[in-house]
Amino acid sequence: MANCILCSTELKFMNTPTFGSGKLNDSSIVCTSCFKKINNVNPKVAFKLKNYSLNDIQNLLNEKISKNEYGNSRLDEIKEQILKLTNGSIYLGKREINELPEILARTEVIDNIAQGTYNNGQGILISTNRRLIFIDKGILYGLKVEDFPLDKITSIQYETGLLLGGIKIYTSGNIAKIENVEKSIARSFAEFVRDKLSQDKEVGKNIISEPNILDQLEKLAKLRENAILSEDEFNEQKKKLLEKL
Ligand SMILES: [Zn+2]
Repeated sequence: MANCILCSTELKFMNTPTFGSGKLNDSSIVCTSCFKKINNVNPKVAFKLKNYSLNDIQNLLNEKISKNEYGNSRLDEIKEQILKLTNGSIYLGKREINELPEILARTEVIDNIAQGTYNNGQGILISTNRRLIFIDKGILYGLKVEDFPLDKITSIQYETGLLLGGIKIYTSGNIAKIENVEKSIARSFAEFVRDKLSQDKEVGKNIISEPNILDQLEKLAKLRENAILSEDEFNEQKKKLLEKL
């Protein structure tokens, strides 16, 4: 007989799920104990195992393992981040939020969120420590995701009308317009991201200035080598440069 595709245990009558319920989409089989594991993580998947591939099942089980120490799943973690940002109300796209564990990296943290429309689709705009992402999960057309890495965004603006506003995200040569955003949120979101961008740029500046100082030190050393600067003069200039670091 065959072996369990997950744990390699030899499959016998006693440890093989009945009526073919342990079969995956490629007809490979999982043993009863692996079947129970899958069922613990997601009973719906276990019930329709033949619709899933080995890869799907491995991902499902890995996700379970990566649940954090409080026993929360990544989705719970994400919902918590959003609850904090929205003062406890998840009024925002539930369908989109459910997609976030797939879209976000494990270490990505949501720091702002807005609801609006983009290219005529209703969805959510989120800001994370890496990027802005617009997510639109349509019932008919499926999932649309557009992301704007922070280092590609040149500026962000908002505009407001009577009730609703919009957020414009400028990237090199492109403007993405998120419309129908609640007025106060359009403003706070855009200002938040703008602050973040300017902080990032300042951090960047410091990094850029370092090699310049190193360049200057090298030049100073050459001047001393060529006896244009005395040892004392060199040391004095060197001290000044190093203070700038
Ligand atoms: Zn097994």
